[in-house]
Amino acid sequence: MKTTVPKRIVVKLGTGVLTSGIGQLNTERIAALASGIAALRAAGTEVIVVSSGAVGLGMGRLGLKRKPSDVSKKQACAAVGQSLLMQTWQRGFAPHNLTVAQVLLTHEDLRSRQRYLGVKACLEELIDYGTIPVINENDTVSAAEIKFGDNDTLSAMVASLVDAQHLVILSTAPGLIDMKGTGRIIPIVEKITPDIEAMAGGTTDITATGGMISKISAAKLAIRSGCGVFIASGAEPDILARIFGGRNPGTFFVPSGIPMESKKRWLAYFQRPVGAIQVNACAVPVLRDQGRSLLAIGVTGVNGVFAAGDIVNILDPEGSILARGVAAFSDAEVRVIAGMSSDAMKPLHPGRKRLEVVHRDNLVLL
Ligand code: GLU
Repeated sequence: MKTTVPKRIVVKLGTGVLTSGIGQLNTERIAALASGIAALRAAGTEVIVVSSGAVGLGMGRLGLKRKPSDVSKKQACAAVGQSLLMQTWQRGFAPHNLTVAQVLLTHEDLRSRQRYLGVKACLEELIDYGTIPVINENDTVSAAEIKFGDNDTLSAMVASLVDAQHLVILSTAPGLIDMKGTGRIIPIVEKITPDIEAMAGGTTDITATGGMISKISAAKLAIRSGCGVFIASGAEPDILARIFGGRNPGTFFVPSGIPMESKKRWLAYFQRPVGAIQVNACAVPVLRDQGRSLLAIGVTGVNGVFAAGDIVNILDPEGSILARGVAAFSDAEVRVIAGMSSDAMKPLHPGRKRLEVVHRDNLVLL
């Protein structure tokens, strides 16, 4: 791999990297990572940090030995830990004359297109001011339905949002281990195949959240946005210098050749669909290979309750997710028009010009 200076990167740090023992800050490591980030900044790379650790640090400060299952206790830990986390980052960056900016997000903040664009504009502003944005999930207020779930997903969404060239996920895992072959770290993944996915196991750490499964799904999201993903051990000295010096000791996921355009990314990855529309076998190649809109004639069924304008999954005849899009009709309307030709639909919707069930501009293949 050749040495390059990327324009913009996102660095995600797991709880296990930032702490030693339960809830004890690893200040030395944080200082070393801050130096690595500062060196990249000095070389001209814009860096956004996604930092875990709030819940873990809160647990330590409040004297808890294991992660509470109670949501309100977890939220309390996050409230205590988040301020400790930011103080530590500020201290880590101070010798490099860099200012940190705390950004706390919930999934809700990125689901609405307007708020998504607002967050993007704010991050651009913070970068222009020369600060290091340090992002975390707003765990103190995020209930299950508005949660990202894990910071791997959050970091991939942020990388997609800010059009980062690379996402670096640093955790206690040194990379993706080839469980089927050599038993060593796989240096490069060109394509995330089912075999690759099968090599990921969940986490067993008491303070960690996602494990390799969530890292691979984050990598999937990021590479479709044209962002290359590094997974490496945050415990290795000078890890960032090694990665960007072309000596990545972990795994690199190659970005996909044709990145999805920004609106389609938002549609594909930032939404939670509220229902589904199933299509027949003839509609599959029309959507998948010809990039056309979904017409009522190809629809065979509907799941869930949705209004026109809501996000739905489009399922193939076997029930697998083929695409995601904005429904132009409600579920009740789709139930009525399913299987109809556009001519047969016209009398039911007089004066309506567009009769596509999901227009191709609002549809993304998954
Ligand atoms: N937001 C959580 C925290 O700060 C971490 C979630 C994760 O690491 O995936 O503790």
